[in-house]
Amino acid sequence: MKRLVLGLLSLIGILSLVIVVRAVCFNSRQITVSPAARIHFDKAAASERLSRAIQFRTVSTPDSVQSSSTEFERFHEFLKEAFPRIGGQLGNETVGGHSLLYTWKGQDSALKPILLMAHMDVVPATGDGWRYPPFSGALAEGYVWGRGAMDDKAGVMAILEAAEFLLGDGFIPKRTIYLAFGHDEEIGGYRGAAKIAELLRSRGVELDFLLDEGMNIFHGVVPGISTPVALIGTAEKGYLSLQLSAETPGGHSSIPPADTAIGIVSRALSRLETRPFPSRLIGATRQMLEFLGPEMSWTNRLALANLWLFDPLVRKQLARSPLVNAVIRTTLAPTIFQAGATDNVLPTDATAVINLRLLPGDTITGAVDHVRRVINEPQVNITPLPAPIEASGVSDINSRGFRIIARTVREIFPPALVAPALLVAETDARHYAGLTKNIFRFLPILLGPEDTRRYHGNDERISIDDYERCIRFYAQLIRNSQR
Ligand SMILES: [Zn+2]
Repeated sequence: MKRLVLGLLSLIGILSLVIVVRAVCFNSRQITVSPAARIHFDKAAASERLSRAIQFRTVSTPDSVQSSSTEFERFHEFLKEAFPRIGGQLGNETVGGHSLLYTWKGQDSALKPILLMAHMDVVPATGDGWRYPPFSGALAEGYVWGRGAMDDKAGVMAILEAAEFLLGDGFIPKRTIYLAFGHDEEIGGYRGAAKIAELLRSRGVELDFLLDEGMNIFHGVVPGISTPVALIGTAEKGYLSLQLSAETPGGHSSIPPADTAIGIVSRALSRLETRPFPSRLIGATRQMLEFLGPEMSWTNRLALANLWLFDPLVRKQLARSPLVNAVIRTTLAPTIFQAGATDNVLPTDATAVINLRLLPGDTITGAVDHVRRVINEPQVNITPLPAPIEASGVSDINSRGFRIIARTVREIFPPALVAPALLVAETDARHYAGLTKNIFRFLPILLGPEDTRRYHGNDERISIDDYERCIRFYAQLIRNSQR
């Protein structure tokens, strides 16, 4: 007995030692750099140009493709005027109707090109509840306001400002730089980004890396860290909607049968809600914890440095926040429910739609199987809706591309931390998957807890100081990418 107790105690001792040693050796992954030298440009004039860009109603809805056509043409004319050096010195092609591809030829064709991208279209905005009209591009209170100020005309314009500045500065790239701006990202990017990617593929282009919009720099949003955190999207979730339906004979509601159409579909939804997809700390999310863990308090470090032991505990804790829950599992949400029309008639059918966002590693086929298994009811028909999207691969954080982006963030936004992360939405970047494995999704703007709702919401805005840093980021990134 004594020997058993002693054995047990020494086992606990060894275990504790391992845990503590791992936490102590959980070193910071942040690279040390000096802040970049400030470049000088007229930030008031740049903000004015962003304001003008917002005033073009380049709105994307499934049936706006025709009606927005003239707005895109006018916007392109404006870009020519606003950026004369780019117009004169870069190759410029219109692709898929209204998307733009600029080619900034490098001196050394043996080096793989990089691609910076953003999208020119925006989601609709009615103006209800906005502080300034959404297409006014109001310059007020130190901000540029309007639809596209964050998503994603700030990206388009900041990339162009950076290129125009560098051309004026006499910069000549060794490595070719592509600038690609889609015109239908908000409705899938099939006419724009997909066509540009196809064109580049037909020319045999292989990219060193690409940077698209995606995640941002978050301040006061990541629990346990008070420093701003730049999250670089190294993967994105997939998208799948399933229709669940049941048919029954119907009849009068005064003599109801045991099973009704509404009851069957409701039961299916209830089972799905009580048995979610399993959570997993893998891929981009696991890497995020490895990057952020060393920057956290001692207790958090103990747990995150020892995921081999605390994985289930950490997952349980993380799942409490819907925001974090979304990056550790495939999520499922009922979005449509239709059945019945009259209060005393049993409907013959009931239909629901569930929207799934697939964790990289989960497939469309696997998700459908899971749903079928959980519902476990032959009377429920499960039909996938058109155009599902598989989850992306995970980009390599040891690649040159990731290192260059991380370095640039640290140079322009000190003391911001950098971490890879999983994006829960889709971007145009996925269309380029065949051109490079190194796809990154990040727009360098600072967001506080109140700001994420502005994406596709009211009062979208960017501060003039933030926009200036955004331009400096792209200029520095282009320079750094040449090494
Ligand atoms: Zn966007």
